Amino acid sequence: MKRRDKIILMKTLLEYVKDAEKRHVAIGHFNISDSEGFKAVIESAKELNLPVIIGVSEKERSFLGVAEIRALVAVEKEKGLPVFLNADHTYSVVASREAVDHNFDSVIIDGAEKPFFENVMMTKEVVKYAREHAEADRREILVEGELGFIGSGSKILDDIPDGVSEKTQTTAEDAKMFVEETMVDLFAPSVGNVHGLVKTGEPKLNIERIKEIRKAVSIPLVLHGASGNSDEDIREAIKAGISIVHINTELRIAYKKGIEKGMSTDELAPYKFMAEGVEEMKKIVTAKLKLFNGL
Ligand SMILES: [Zn+2]
Repeated sequence: MKRRDKIILMKTLLEYVKDAEKRHVAIGHFNISDSEGFKAVIESAKELNLPVIIGVSEKERSFLGVAEIRALVAVEKEKGLPVFLNADHTYSVVASREAVDHNFDSVIIDGAEKPFFENVMMTKEVVKYAREHAEADRREILVEGELGFIGSGSKILDDIPDGVSEKTQTTAEDAKMFVEETMVDLFAPSVGNVHGLVKTGEPKLNIERIKEIRKAVSIPLVLHGASGNSDEDIREAIKAGISIVHINTELRIAYKKGIEKGMSTDELAPYKFMAEGVEEMKKIVTAKLKLFNGL
């Protein structure tokens, strides 16, 4: 088989997500900022033979470079590895369009902090743009919409961020209206999840709410901010209808810890002291992938 054929024969991201949905497992979405992070995610996915989504927020992709991250992903895709690239949390229509133009597999237009109708309008605009390009380029471009604020950034927080409470959780009714209006491919609700890692303990995920939303909308659901949530909570959330789970903060903590360990010796070779960061990150990615896939 020619290498090119392999790419064409690979399942699309949506097919992998739907397959995960059917089997009550979830696909791991891991954020990276550099090639070491990429290496950690890819090595773990390869070892477990699982599809994986690489996420880069607006700041992460500007640090690494859009062309650079695309090239890294393309190399793995050519080898036949089911790795997909997501433009994580993109806060404007303009930046979302750029992600479509840059051949990302999926883009998250994040209007969660905006009033409902403003969020709907901007999400619709991105969906329209993505559909036109998908058709013209004959490829799949998924758009994920967000409803219900869950905080922003991937850091260690003293407490639950302002503006996030049980009241800001997404209702099944709003979810249904949002999905029907925008025609997004993937939907990220607010169900007790919080971006970042809360020192005082993560709030419990609202499993009942996930079930209600699952019933109300017909597209796959995405859980953001799953760093710090207990294994049991994540397992229940997947059982209730989550098909993609995002992890970032725990990876950042592991990476930093690893590099610090590497730097604490007289070692001068970056491929040795940085390797410690990769190893620590891999431990998290592997553990999460096992958890998401019931392995
Ligand atoms: Zn997120």
